[in-house]
Amino acid sequence: MRQFVLKVHQLCNLACDHCYVYEHADQTWRDRPAIMSAEVVRQTATRIAEHAARRQLSAVGVVLHGGEPLLLGATRLREVLTILHRSIGATTALDVRLQTNAIRLTEPMAELLLEFGVRVGVSLDGDEAANDRHRRYRNGASSHDRTLRGLALLRSDRYRPAYAGILCTIDARNDPIAVYEALLAEEPPRIDLLLPHATWDNPPEAPHADWLIRLYRRWLADGRPVPIRLFDSLRATAAGRPSATEAVGIDRGDVAVVESDGSWEQPDSMKTTFHGAAATGLTVFTASADELLAAPAMRVRQSGLAGLSATCRACPVVRQCGGGLFAHRFSSATGFDNPSVYCADLKGLIAAMNSETPVAWTGQPGLPESVFDDLASGGGGSDAVARLAAAQESITRALLVAVADAPEGRTAAAAWELLSELDRRAPEAVRRVLTHPFVRVWAVRVLSGAGGTDRLADLAAAVAVLARADVEVAVRPRDGGVHLPTLGTLSLANGVTSVNGAHDHVLTPTVTIARDDLTVRLEDADPYRDCHGWPAVGGLTPAQVRDWERVLGPAWQTVTRDAPGYAAGVAAGLTTITPLVPDAETLRSATSRQAFGATGVAWSPDPRALAILLVHEFQHTKLGALLDLVDLVEPDATDLLRVGWRPDARPAESALQGTYAHLAVADMWRARAERGEPGTAEHYARYRGWIAEAVIALGTSDALTEPGRRFVDRLAATIEKLPV
Ligand code: SF4
Repeated sequence: MRQFVLKVHQLCNLACDHCYVYEHADQTWRDRPAIMSAEVVRQTATRIAEHAARRQLSAVGVVLHGGEPLLLGATRLREVLTILHRSIGATTALDVRLQTNAIRLTEPMAELLLEFGVRVGVSLDGDEAANDRHRRYRNGASSHDRTLRGLALLRSDRYRPAYAGILCTIDARNDPIAVYEALLAEEPPRIDLLLPHATWDNPPEAPHADWLIRLYRRWLADGRPVPIRLFDSLRATAAGRPSATEAVGIDRGDVAVVESDGSWEQPDSMKTTFHGAAATGLTVFTASADELLAAPAMRVRQSGLAGLSATCRACPVVRQCGGGLFAHRFSSATGFDNPSVYCADLKGLIAAMNSETPVAWTGQPGLPESVFDDLASGGGGSDAVARLAAAQESITRALLVAVADAPEGRTAAAAWELLSELDRRAPEAVRRVLTHPFVRVWAVRVLSGAGGTDRLADLAAAVAVLARADVEVAVRPRDGGVHLPTLGTLSLANGVTSVNGAHDHVLTPTVTIARDDLTVRLEDADPYRDCHGWPAVGGLTPAQVRDWERVLGPAWQTVTRDAPGYAAGVAAGLTTITPLVPDAETLRSATSRQAFGATGVAWSPDPRALAILLVHEFQHTKLGALLDLVDLVEPDATDLLRVGWRPDARPAESALQGTYAHLAVADMWRARAERGEPGTAEHYARYRGWIAEAVIALGTSDALTEPGRRFVDRLAATIEKLPV
């Protein structure tokens, strides 16, 4: 034992509602004397001194605690300090600290503390609004002013040597940057951030990882102007050094508490678990500190890695996290044999901190690092999308070669030869046809034995018409027509059996809608368009086409206004809308990994809703195309991750897709909320919460490859910048 917390005054002049002494499960303070008697102080000092001597400790720390220790008053405080110094100071170096709300920190009191070399830690939760959430007087009045007055004294040249730092209990509703700045303004030598005490029976109301990460990044960007014990300890444990706090790390606990009646107890945080949880059954009158160490309750805390739950022992960050604070593992069903109730938060924070050393770019032909990072940040403008489109075209061409080489492809040898010939004579026309989204869908079906090779002739015919080439190609009609990708459906009702450029008047053209910089086809006839998982509409009526034309203009304006960071990419890559059969309950939309550039979407009269669907789905398109180039998820990953937008746990790649798509949606709701549109702030908060949690789950899973980690790190950085 190197640290002894003495509860010298049980009562407090504040009534903070997050106080674990008065407000949590343990209520033993009620049966204890308000003030630690001189006799208890003397006996405690004797126990500490004999422990230091027996263990040959070069120093011990004593923290005067409460309640509020300054309520002791100067006379009694002097008495306590005198006893401690006389008894312990003769044996070993004594470091005395005092934890206070600073309300009773007057000049005479500060003189006394200075005289005895006591260093003072002050409890402050941030700016006035943050501090007022919990740290109030019994009548509800704010204590902020008084605490700041005490801090001003400690900041002065004379009393600065007595200033140990600030202890801040986190409330995730406070803005972390405002809290950080308020704490920094008090010029503390150190900051302690305390997660509010919680257990699996009483879990925290909000996730905390995001809050901590934002503050961590700001602190890092500021050049770490003040030590923050939690962050410093996680950095230390990452490097294999000991932690400076019981809150993280697997170092053995070295803290004992002496209550005002002389009871030896476990650390105060245990009071949050259940009534009497901190008790050991020993007192300073009946047991030495060595006997305390042998008590079963204390031995568990001393057992390091072996004392952790199986989940923690198997955790990749256990040596940094150490299962979190002992008390935070408690559940009335399974005791302390659990990970911390802050497990996800700790994992997320550790992942973010460890990712400050960026994952090296492993390289990918045709995909520059800057383009990858641009896409990974969630955006990706026209340049990035053009690269993805070019890669998709290469994939489609490779698939066509495979189709032509397959045994069934030989039946279409003439069409293949013509297509190859046209590729030399009219490459732009071939490119236009081969980049039609459903060409790849068809090729994949053929190669998986589910489609015929007749389509090869349709492609050649489409190219021939586009190139106005004077050639003949035999096509096989289906349902009285032939669909020519990019052009439309060639009706054979009037007996046409071959086509060339002179006969394109027989086409029912595919409808194309152009709005500003967006040009899309309404694909209602391609026989391979039904690839989105929902039934596609066939043969739009003129009225339905007008409906689409009417809604697409305002929808696109909404995209450019609400999602300016995504619009250029959408305009560059979205070529095709496949109208889906509407559903009475939900707005349907979908993408297919095989159909780059196409989005399936059911018509909606609401352009704002349509705008969100288009942006959301194009995020899937971009990520799908990137996944064709780079493995972001380990191919044999089996992790299932919890995500807010689905009731079931998802494979890592689905979680990544969802996070990527919902990031853009969150950004759109943010834009609307910032304009003050009613009801939009709730949507924004929900989406932001989802993606903030999901990106942590991804970052801490074992499912990511090296490029995947780099991708998720950048995605996390973007999410983190979204205002809370
Ligand atoms: S992150 Fe969770 S599982 Fe890992 S050591 Fe910490 S509490 Fe245990």
